[in-house]
Amino acid sequence: MKPAVAVIGGGPAGLACAEVLALGGCAVMVVEQMPSVGRKLLMAGRSGLNLTHAEPRADFVARYGAAAPFLRPMIEAFDADALRGWAEGLGEPCFVGTSGRVFPVSMKASPLLRAWMVRLASLGVSVRTRTRWVGFAPEGVRIEGPQGPAVLPVRAAVLAMGGASWSRLGADGLWATRLGDVAVTPFAPANCGFRAAWSDMMGARFAGQPLKSVALHHAGQVVRGDAMITATGLEGGAVYALSAAIRDAIARDGRAEVRIDLRPDLDVRVVAERLARVRARESLSNRLRKALRLAPCAVALLREAGPMPEGTAALAARIKAVPVVLTAPESLDRAISVAGGIALGALDARLMLRQAPGVFAAGEMLDWEAPTGGYLLQACFATGRAAGQGVLGWLRDGGSALYPCAP
Ligand SMILES: Cc1cc2nc3c(=O)[nH]c(=O)nc-3n(C[C@H](O)[C@H](O)[C@H](O)COP(=O)(O)OP(=O)(O)OC[C@H]3O[C@@H](n4cnc5c(N)ncnc54)[C@H](O)[C@@H]3O)c2cc1C
Repeated sequence: MKPAVAVIGGGPAGLACAEVLALGGCAVMVVEQMPSVGRKLLMAGRSGLNLTHAEPRADFVARYGAAAPFLRPMIEAFDADALRGWAEGLGEPCFVGTSGRVFPVSMKASPLLRAWMVRLASLGVSVRTRTRWVGFAPEGVRIEGPQGPAVLPVRAAVLAMGGASWSRLGADGLWATRLGDVAVTPFAPANCGFRAAWSDMMGARFAGQPLKSVALHHAGQVVRGDAMITATGLEGGAVYALSAAIRDAIARDGRAEVRIDLRPDLDVRVVAERLARVRARESLSNRLRKALRLAPCAVALLREAGPMPEGTAALAARIKAVPVVLTAPESLDRAISVAGGIALGALDARLMLRQAPGVFAAGEMLDWEAPTGGYLLQACFATGRAAGQGVLGWLRDGGSALYPCAP
């Protein structure tokens, strides 16, 4: 008889794990609390589905910071090329965008997820939706679904319940209270926006307007890209890329200053020359628009930074480095991803919980973080597959589960 394995959570990590387990000869049940699987993956598809990144392997792995040594073997076993090949095998060819980011040609997640679910069904994977994992019993996992509470008797379980952001898509982080003594690092927002001490006018008039092609400076790091003004502060790709450092600086100092270069392609002297060429009789907004094509929201940002400096040289210097003080991350639920989760030290190299033989974990549940750019999904796929391999090896070795039950 095939060994029964429960995979809790039908996101990319859980489904990647289920695929490996089914191909390895297990009877796999995916337990998903939402009415359908892959809701966050589908949301990622709304912005093109950045599956992974094409940069060299060493640079790629370094994006995981402190977690890089732990994740390296898993990402090497299922790297960016492997992920592309896998997507192409499901009928979704990929391309490398100008920034090195890898996307499916369709720029969507829905065809990929549909083809994936057909493949999983053909491998015998069953999916129980609207069913929530609530803990362990001596013989398996406790679930609650439309038919009421039940225990699934399984040889092993893989936890892949995601982080704790965008809870309306399923990842509510409630699992963190149900793991008994397993070390869980508190969640913190990653790839998130921040609050700024805007005037009422700034938030009310310019929320939703982009600062296009700017350069953000913080603590010696520079990131080029777009930032979005929100009612309460700043968000967007360039902000997310610096968010771990900004978040940690706020936790340490109570505030973090970023400097925004509104015209990163122009030297400060060129900015001053262009300003000097426009007649001084013009209003300041007109001068900034005519000389530098600064949008109204960029001009407003300059004004937020205090009285306008006198003279073109000083004004040019302000345009090249507008100070913005950030005071707090936006809420965890609005973050693209989270830091924190099951402490890596609580897992062995197979992704099995040291305290609970037979229980494995994968995906955003684990305590790693990475910038946007495809690194999040890559690590979810790689750890999901690694957990699947871990279960297969453990079953081959005749492992017997010891589920951590509530006292
Ligand atoms: C707006 C947005 C855009 C994004 N874009 C990208 C991108 O382009 N590229 C990229 O790399 N990453 C992107 N991400 C991040 C990426 O989607 C996530 O990192 C990834 O989906 C996490 O995968 P996971 O399988 O670990 O968790 P999830 O995808 O969150 O899946 C976890 C699943 O577990 C289920 N679950 C939770 N608790 C229980 C329970 N008790 N019982 C049963 N089921 C449970 C949830 O309902 C959920 O379906 C984006 C995220 C957001 C919010």
